[in-house]
Amino acid sequence: MKLWSFHGGLPSLAEHKNESVNLPIEVAPIPKVLIYPLGQHIGNAAKPLVQVGDKVLRGQKIAAAQGMVSAPIHAGSSGTVSQIADHLIPHPSGFSAPSITIETDGLDAEIDYTPHADFQQLTVAQLVDIIREAGIVGLGGAAFPTAIKLNTQSKAVAIDTLILNGAECEPYISCDDRLLKERASRIVEGTEILLHMLGAKQAILAVEDNTPDTFSSIQEAINNNNNQAINATQIPTIYPTGGEKQLIQTLTGKEVPSGKIPADIGIVSINVGTVYAIQQAVIEGKPLTSRIITVTGEGVKKPHNLEVRIGTPISALIDVCHGYTKQAERLVMGGPMMGFALSSDSIPVVKATNCILVASQHEVVTEKRAMPCIRCGLCASACPVSLSPQQLYWFSRSDQLDKAAQLNLSDCIECGCCDVVCPSHIPLAQHFRYAKSALKVQNHEKQLSNIARERFEAREERLARDKAERAERSRKKKAALKNKPAKEEIDAAVSRSKTKKSSIDNED
Ligand code: SF4
Ligand code: SF4
Repeated sequence: MKLWSFHGGLPSLAEHKNESVNLPIEVAPIPKVLIYPLGQHIGNAAKPLVQVGDKVLRGQKIAAAQGMVSAPIHAGSSGTVSQIADHLIPHPSGFSAPSITIETDGLDAEIDYTPHADFQQLTVAQLVDIIREAGIVGLGGAAFPTAIKLNTQSKAVAIDTLILNGAECEPYISCDDRLLKERASRIVEGTEILLHMLGAKQAILAVEDNTPDTFSSIQEAINNNNNQAINATQIPTIYPTGGEKQLIQTLTGKEVPSGKIPADIGIVSINVGTVYAIQQAVIEGKPLTSRIITVTGEGVKKPHNLEVRIGTPISALIDVCHGYTKQAERLVMGGPMMGFALSSDSIPVVKATNCILVASQHEVVTEKRAMPCIRCGLCASACPVSLSPQQLYWFSRSDQLDKAAQLNLSDCIECGCCDVVCPSHIPLAQHFRYAKSALKVQNHEKQLSNIARERFEAREERLARDKAERAERSRKKKAALKNKPAKEEIDAAVSRSKTKKSSIDNED
């Protein structure tokens, strides 16, 4: 099929996939404890449905979604709730947050699932509900609740194309690649569910051209399925071709405008891991309790691709990988480009975790001393979103966030391409990550202050209205009093009337 290209990117970024790409998926053992941060998705944190001491089964909902943008959480194995308290969470801040801890019993007893092999008989609303209740979020790293993304019926633009994102462009990570190689038929089945839901004319499954075996597996699964609407294609290996907007541009030539989402131009794009989770939720009736992740880097003795229960502490995965090597320097969640450092291996795997990179000294992006910007423009040439990182850096650094916002700071996908090419070793993406959070806080505060101002103005208006109404009432009262005849006048008029009546009576 015809392909397009996007601006910038890094065509020759070292991939480091060989360390793990040929390792089949192994199922990680049940850990002693499973830890579930309640806020492991975009939106409101989930609300606990269990109490300390409760017995739970695998697949049981232990926390409910709160509001539209939220997702429930399900137990990954049977056991007893031992704690509901703050625990370290996987976040660049290194903060703790409310989490449910389950002490597992090793039995792995499950709830009864409700499979829907006949998904064509279900309405879109029923399928959206199944996906929402299964707690599925974007497993490519975004963790946005998938049910919202698929609820496109009220959109003005009809969905024409479904894109299945198998372009795992970040170095070191191979979990999606293994999933596509080993479970391609289920991903094709998941694709059929999505086509049924979205009413899209075509589905395009994209993988990079550095994975010919994977492409063959998918092609075979598609041929076996014989659904003419599903096609697979290979795309050039250029980092970050797996970015949602970059992939859409590569496959369709269409650009998603700033501030818009793909559905606004008739496209829905979904990571292949998420498609697998949808297949499991609908066809097997199983909620999201596990995912595939890559554990790699020179800091572990034996890298692995593992099917892991969400909630598993990272230390348990390091044990599966035969422990740390002497070179282990830094624990990173995600890859070296977009991942972030973790402060402890007691932190659990969450829904968005696709890789644990145990990096050695030379695998860590060396923090060379940043030098002044020499205005070479290399960062702008590398930026896949066509931003001007040099100017964004200037405004972010000087806290001129409004000006950075005008230069579309929020479109920055934090890919780090600008960092890699900057001869002055300026950690640009880090600045932008900080500036984006600060901008969010600033906008939120602005919203709150606008609400407060509107409330104050409404109150002032009401008080002025009340005052005017009171004044009007008082004026009317005074006028009425002024026009009212005096009591003596009334008495005199009554007396005159009586006298007149009596004289008439006498005449009679
Ligand atoms: S690449 Fe670095 S030095 Fe060159 S313009 Fe961008 S920020 Fe400045
Ligand atoms: S981190 Fe942001 S500014 Fe830098 S290249 Fe990526 S998208 Fe562009």
